[in-house]
Amino acid sequence: MQVSRRGMLTGAAAVGAAAVGAAGVVGLEGRSQAATVPAAKREPVELTWFGTHAWQLKCGKSVVLTDPWLTRFKTGTFTPEGADPKTKLVIKPEVIDKHLSTADAILVHHGHYDHMADVPYVAKKTQATVLCTETHANLLRAMRTPNELLSPVRGGEYLPFDGFSIEVFPSLHSCSGKRHTYAYPGYRYDVPQRPRVIEDLVEGGTLAFVITIGGLRILSLSTANFDPNALRDLQVDVIFAAPGGEPGITDRLLQTIKPVRKVIATHWDDFDKPLDDPGIPWTDLTPLRQSVERTGAEFVVLDHLQQVTL
Ligand SMILES: [Zn+2]
Repeated sequence: MQVSRRGMLTGAAAVGAAAVGAAGVVGLEGRSQAATVPAAKREPVELTWFGTHAWQLKCGKSVVLTDPWLTRFKTGTFTPEGADPKTKLVIKPEVIDKHLSTADAILVHHGHYDHMADVPYVAKKTQATVLCTETHANLLRAMRTPNELLSPVRGGEYLPFDGFSIEVFPSLHSCSGKRHTYAYPGYRYDVPQRPRVIEDLVEGGTLAFVITIGGLRILSLSTANFDPNALRDLQVDVIFAAPGGEPGITDRLLQTIKPVRKVIATHWDDFDKPLDDPGIPWTDLTPLRQSVERTGAEFVVLDHLQQVTL
């Protein structure tokens, strides 16, 4: 389909369900508002979105990556049948190499394939420090990630790096349905057999991170859920916030932390679809947008491969 990126998103909105339509409109508004002038007294921080929760944060020579999963492959996640847990894990170096070159730190928020499957390749390529739980580290060791790059954390750490700092917080995966569950739960206390299929990459604990870079504090959440005890009265400028989860969850998040200026939508795209195409929302972004706008914060939606400088 040979239409412009913007047209594609509008088209999806026009022909899709009401849910998709609302998200498409938000996306367009968000983009026009996203190009803010960098604050005079801060170093500019460039954010690039690679779909799912894959973000690159760049300030001067410092580069931080969150859940860098760029390969993407079909699993059936957004079909009525759901994902096939036996879908083979693959890594596409040619896709990763096109977009990522250097990194100082890789923040693993949880162990699911759409967050961690590319980390072994990206870590080896960049030699970045990988912050993750012990379960994630065991899975990454099983996927031949060099052990010296792995830095297991639990939450509570304050870690200064050259040019930025990372604070780690315990967090929770979002859940849904009658039983409030999520896919592929579990922990790995030893190095398991090499993960081959998507269900082998268990959640393994969920972490949240605050990245302080260029004078900006960014709270990075990989799902809609969070630990209110860990984040109470936290002060940040920007949040990466995901749709989904239990009703009202983003309202609770924004009541738990101190007021923020900007909330950037994350993990809103159907990740069975390629990164080169515009993002197709997997859910209605309206509840997330309304929760944010009720607080007076700005709601921002970037498209695949788009950048914003803050
Ligand atoms: Zn997940």
